[in-house]
Parts: sequence; C-alpha cells; structure tokens
Amino acid sequence: MKIICIGRNYADHAKEMKSEVPLEPVFFLKPDTALLPKRNPFFIPSFSNDVHHELELVVRINRVGKSIEEKFANRYYNEISVGIDFTARDIQAECKKKGLPWEKAKAFDGSAPVGDFIKLSENQNIQDLEIELKKNNEIVQKVNTEKMLFTVDQIISYVSQYITLKIGDLIFTGTPSGVGPVVIHDQLEAFIGEKKLLKLNIK
Ligand code: MG
Repeated sequence: MKIICIGRNYADHAKEMKSEVPLEPVFFLKPDTALLPKRNPFFIPSFSNDVHHELELVVRINRVGKSIEEKFANRYYNEISVGIDFTARDIQAECKKKGLPWEKAKAFDGSAPVGDFIKLSENQNIQDLEIELKKNNEIVQKVNTEKMLFTVDQIISYVSQYITLKIGDLIFTGTPSGVGPVVIHDQLEAFIGEKKLLKLNIK
C-alpha cells in the first residue's frame, strides 16, 4: 500500500506557512514504513529539532482505480479516520530552500500514524466533518472539512490520473492551520466530531 498526502489544502495553513494557495492539488507520497503500529508511541527522530504535528482527515481506498472521474470518486472509499502527517519542519525548510524533494522531512519511519477507521454513513457528507487535535488536552487544530481547497473527490480524481489507486491505499487530505512542534511527553488526541480515533504519546 501507499500513503498519498496532499499539501496546502486549507488556505489558512498555506498562509501560516507563507506559501501560495495552489491552483491544483499538491501531493507527495509516504512509504508503508511511515505507518505507526497501533498504540506505539511516536519517537521524535534524532535528525530533527522541530517535528510538527499536522492533523489530517484520512480516507482509505477500497477499490482499484485509474483516471477516476470526480463524479464517481465517492465509490472508491467508505472509511475515514484522522492521522498525523508528522513533518520535520527544519529539514523541510532546508529541502525547500534547495529545491529538493521533501521525503527526508515527511516520509521517515512512523511519520504517518492513523487512528481507528469509521464507516462513512450514507447521510454523512465527507465535506462537512469537524476534525480536531488536542495536545495535552488543549485544542490546537480544529476545522470543518468544508474548508478544503480541493475536495476528497477532486483529490482522488486528480491523483488517479498519475497513480493507480489500490485497495488499502490511504489519502491524507491536508492540514488546517495550527501546526506546531511536539516534544517528549506530549500527548496527542485526534477526533472526528465527538469520536476520539487516535491517541498518541510522544517519546
Ligand atoms: Mg500535511
């Protein structure tokens, strides 16, 4: 499986990063080794002094698809969760400055913990969900998915022009504003609505 991540999908996050709002989706990949086994802590990697949390809605692909039309994209998923796109911000800044790829900053081991998946019910609109991240019991990121610049269906349509989607692939749909550093002993909890789907200790 692969993990597809969308960058700059909320205007307020693009702004806090002093990045331009993209005209088409920006995406990059993480390998399966970026997943974090359930209930494992996240260990801050030794190569970074500034690892940030990025709370994101995560969609699990359940059918194989290539060049999917936007109007059919909703047939390719029915389970969602929240995940953290951990980012070594100091390394990313270096890569950006040199015009190099981001993998060192984004794709390292354990950099993509994902919570429990829940079924998207018939009457639920994936573009009208509240996602929220608490750090040490305080809300640090919170947004309604209606604020996405590119909808989940647009993302699936766009990405599948280039890359075949397979069963079990995960899409991290981008982070809202409020990203910030994690330090040892922090505790993260991520929610969709009232449902706590992910709890993570930082070590
Ligand atoms: Mg992200």
